[in-house]
Amino acid sequence: MSILIINSGSSSVKFAVIDPDAGTVYLQALAECLGQENASLQIEIEANNFQTTVSLKSGGHAEAIKALIPYLDTIENMTLTGVGHRVVHGASRFSGSMLIDDAIMNTLVECSALAPLHNPPNILGIKESSQFFPDLPQVAVFDTAFHQTMPERAWRYPVPDSWYTDFQVRKYGFHGTSHAFVADQAIQRLGLAEKPSKIITAHLGNGCSTAAVLNGESVDTSMGLTPLEGLVMGTRSGNVDPGLFSYMCDKLDCSHADVTNALNKKSGLLGISGVSNDMRTLQKAANDGDTKAAMAVSIFCYRLAKDIAGMMVALGGVDALVFTGGIGENDKSTRKEVLNLLSFTGLTLDEQLNEQHGDESGRITSTQTPCALVIPTNEELAIARESARIIAHI
Ligand code: ADP
Repeated sequence: MSILIINSGSSSVKFAVIDPDAGTVYLQALAECLGQENASLQIEIEANNFQTTVSLKSGGHAEAIKALIPYLDTIENMTLTGVGHRVVHGASRFSGSMLIDDAIMNTLVECSALAPLHNPPNILGIKESSQFFPDLPQVAVFDTAFHQTMPERAWRYPVPDSWYTDFQVRKYGFHGTSHAFVADQAIQRLGLAEKPSKIITAHLGNGCSTAAVLNGESVDTSMGLTPLEGLVMGTRSGNVDPGLFSYMCDKLDCSHADVTNALNKKSGLLGISGVSNDMRTLQKAANDGDTKAAMAVSIFCYRLAKDIAGMMVALGGVDALVFTGGIGENDKSTRKEVLNLLSFTGLTLDEQLNEQHGDESGRITSTQTPCALVIPTNEELAIARESARIIAHI
């Protein structure tokens, strides 16, 4: 069994072909600059020791899938059994992955109002893939679904009731596939499958979010109605005073949309440092004496530690804190600073284990309970497994 994973953005599409049982990655591909003159598709087939880049000649999503198909046929002993699509927003309509049919497509279109930047390209990817692979089941795996188990006190905003009842304004949460994957890994590694478990997951990539996972279910998360809420991120501000909207509109004589755009694209690590949204660049700049870069990293860690402490309230304690994503998996300085800020909770950093990114279980604390773990995320594998689970029930 092999699943083609499609993660479709507005100008790019990531593909992978994965055996969900063995975890074998047969193919990885990235289509970029779609719709532009330099649109291209990079393909890597590890087993064939093969890499190539093909021009898509201003092509879009359809041309990218069409260009991929001949390469799928070159992979020996691989038969596709389905296609798994990453879908960013499933609102309150989806608490799990779904086999896609016409009714589901209509609901996805309805959910687009809540994610106008993300859902339309996801839907386009599904439409094109259904054209090219009409005989394969297509599965939607949602970023939001894992958080549908949150209790109402966690997902309701303290705003007028009609904003929720009329316009579905509430916290949804994102990165669900990643939080679910690493929380499950932590539960397995710590032997907590049959026991009560309190896991906090920190997904720290370009986008960053935390989740409080009680006995395998999400009970709180830092992102909200949109992926702008919560932690400091590469270019996103995370939490700010909503009062700054009117204030900045007035000061800059601009629209609310302009302020939202600045909070999404010009804030976070990039906004504070004025140097970069990339943690590696900032750590280097900070080491070289750049005080703004150092402050950006310091604010990132301080706000993250405060958020994690808040997630302990959601769980009534913590058994394990999991670091994942590009920063969580690789940046020992961030982990060290965050754990030092949280040392009053009983989490005690082991410098040596942190340097080596964890022992065989990923542990970077001298304490077993509570502990902190480094666990690489694998969203593609998680989507492949989800898709296979749904397809098995057809
Ligand atoms: P995305 O959300 O796009 O999937 P990633 O999970 O790849 O992002 O994370 C990107 C972030 O991880 C960047 O800030 C990058 O600097 C950081 N990162 C990647 N490798 C390292 C490293 N070795 N040390 C510190 N930070 C790293």
